[in-house]
Amino acid sequence: MVKLKRLQPESDAEPAPIVLIASSDSDTRSLYRESLISTRSDVVEAIDGRDALVQCFKRPPALLITETRLPYIDGYALCEVLRKDPLTSAVPIVVVTADVDPVALARLSRMGRITVLGKPVAIERLAETVRALGTTDAPDDEPIASSDVSLAPRSRYMSTAVRRFRRFETVAPAALPPALRCPECDVLLKFSKSQIGGVTSRDPEQWDYLACPQCSERFEYRHRTRALRSTDEG
Ligand SMILES: [Zn+2]
Repeated sequence: MVKLKRLQPESDAEPAPIVLIASSDSDTRSLYRESLISTRSDVVEAIDGRDALVQCFKRPPALLITETRLPYIDGYALCEVLRKDPLTSAVPIVVVTADVDPVALARLSRMGRITVLGKPVAIERLAETVRALGTTDAPDDEPIASSDVSLAPRSRYMSTAVRRFRRFETVAPAALPPALRCPECDVLLKFSKSQIGGVTSRDPEQWDYLACPQCSERFEYRHRTRALRSTDEG
């Protein structure tokens, strides 16, 4: 006879946050699952976009990690549906993709609360991103009313995600820099990437990185101050 394992948590601690991994490839799912070992999360897997959608609506996760290429409903459509529904609109999403299509990536960046990681992703990088989103350790400062126990952890993890807003890089920011010229050569600078950061996600800052195609000098443009400075000095 099989002995049933007791699944009760050690104390009357709240349940671990759910992290949903969506990928059609079982090796990839195992790899991502492995990267989450150090995090205190309950990992759930989905094998295609439809499965991921069903699981998200059944039990909205504290975080979704998805690929863009998924059977039935691709990662882009999945993100769009989740963002439109009030139940899942605030779920932080990490998209792992090999796509470099700027239009597709811009579509993702406009949805908000989406971190795009290039594929293949190093598992340390994924773990770091998950930790930065705040799914690993819960703050102890907010007591929860017992009647709210089933709902409270989710909303608490979301507010944690907002508080732990970190800088991230994107090649497809929601706001592109204005047309900027090299002070030396007077030719238009070429945009390479943006860094989004700031104190909270409600008050983000954006720095763009550009280079001169003629003299190859590199520049940084800060949106808040509209200042362009060379990063090659010194
Ligand atoms: Zn130049």
